[in-house]
Amino acid sequence: MQKKINEFLELQKIDIDIAEFEKTFETVPTKLNELRNKIDLEERKMVNLKEKIESQNLELKELNLEVESANQKIEALEEKLFSINSTKEFEALQKETGDLKRLKLGIEDNQIKLMENLENSQKSLNENEAKFNEEIEPLRQEIDELQKNLDDCNLKKNKLLNEREGKTKELDKDLLKTYENLLRNKPPVIVPIIGESCGSCFIKIPPQTRIKVLQEEETILCPFCNKILISETENND
Ligand SMILES: [Zn+2]
Repeated sequence: MQKKINEFLELQKIDIDIAEFEKTFETVPTKLNELRNKIDLEERKMVNLKEKIESQNLELKELNLEVESANQKIEALEEKLFSINSTKEFEALQKETGDLKRLKLGIEDNQIKLMENLENSQKSLNENEAKFNEEIEPLRQEIDELQKNLDDCNLKKNKLLNEREGKTKELDKDLLKTYENLLRNKPPVIVPIIGESCGSCFIKIPPQTRIKVLQEEETILCPFCNKILISETENND
């Protein structure tokens, strides 16, 4: 029994190390996701702004063409005015020219508004780009470091898991089954009695149970916290 338990204590050391790794890096994947999402969000903002600027530029180009074509029409009408003799026709043409000029003024108003909007968009983009370079870009390095640590940790953990697998092959099957079931509640699974109490929950063990533990003939569980109990001296590393 003593030898058996010692083998399991070695396994338990590995399991405690594995649990430590898992605990240390428990929050890293979430943190990595948060950082990546933050970068994505800021990048998307800039893409949206660039698209907005592009469409505003196109719109401005169209307005310029509209003004140009209005100018040409106005010029043509004004030339025509000179060659007209009929007053009625003259008035009609003059009205038409006046309408076109008003239309042109409307377009020019829109041009001015659009140019202001475009300027604001460009300003926002510049601000976002500056913020990105200053605050967001350095996050990539943070991500790289976290990811590297996580990879290292997983590598070490996998090594431990391999070592564990090798070890479990040599162990007593029945005790291993009990041990693994208890392991679900996190290591340690095997704890020494301290004085008259369980070394995990510190509740006083009934004398008969304690005697059985000291006899070391069978696997005895703490009746309160379900840890495998061993006598105090056995846990000397
Ligand atoms: Zn206990």
